[in-house]
Amino acid sequence: MELNVQSVLKWIEKLNDKIQNNKEYLTSLDQAIGDGDHGINMARGFQEVINKTTTSQYDTVSDLTKDVAMTLMSKVGGASGPLYGTAFLKLSMSVKGKDPVDHDAFTAGVQEALNGIQQRGKANEGEKTLVDVWAPVLRFLQENSEFEPGKLEETAKVAMESTKDIIAIRGRAAYLKERSKGHLDPGSVSSFYLFQSLAEVLQE
Ligand code: ADP
Ligand code: MG
Ligand code: MG
Repeated sequence: MELNVQSVLKWIEKLNDKIQNNKEYLTSLDQAIGDGDHGINMARGFQEVINKTTTSQYDTVSDLTKDVAMTLMSKVGGASGPLYGTAFLKLSMSVKGKDPVDHDAFTAGVQEALNGIQQRGKANEGEKTLVDVWAPVLRFLQENSEFEPGKLEETAKVAMESTKDIIAIRGRAAYLKERSKGHLDPGSVSSFYLFQSLAEVLQE
């Protein structure tokens, strides 16, 4: 795989489309086990990201993903803004000077992003947060230096679906204890959209 400014712009455009189209769905998931704002948070944040990135010029993937990070951190409240913001900031720092971003550079960037998410949120895998999608996707990238984009999407999808059976330990859903079981984690669904969008760009 190879990512350049153009393909990363497509990636976040596709991601924004999915978030806007599924805003109500993400919110309904968060209504079940959180405070019902995940769709609103993500839709606002990524619309701001698109507003910023479509009116700016970028020479590197690092500069572009840094702007994504800064926008999410400043425009999105709640847990998800700082978490996704940190992920994109760590990715940006990791891929600095690596244009075009190849498989190894991207995998290292996802590793850094996940480290950042975990430093900030203190969640381990299996605690019903978006870590439950990022960690299996990272392992997939580490284990497959060449892959079919459809396999990446499938990995993210299975991981997202697996959050349904988990009792939440982190985030607002943790207040519900056993009652959080039987519901998908909203942040894992938005993270699935993120990797699904990436897979679609790689497919083209
Ligand atoms: P808030 O919970 O502040 O209202 P959102 O609803 O936008 O924020 O985002 C909720 C999502 O954030 C959860 O579904 C979960 O995936 C993720 N999340 C919450 N807390 C954590 C954490 N400590 N570590 C990792 N992810 C978390
Ligand atoms: Mg919420
Ligand atoms: Mg909230």
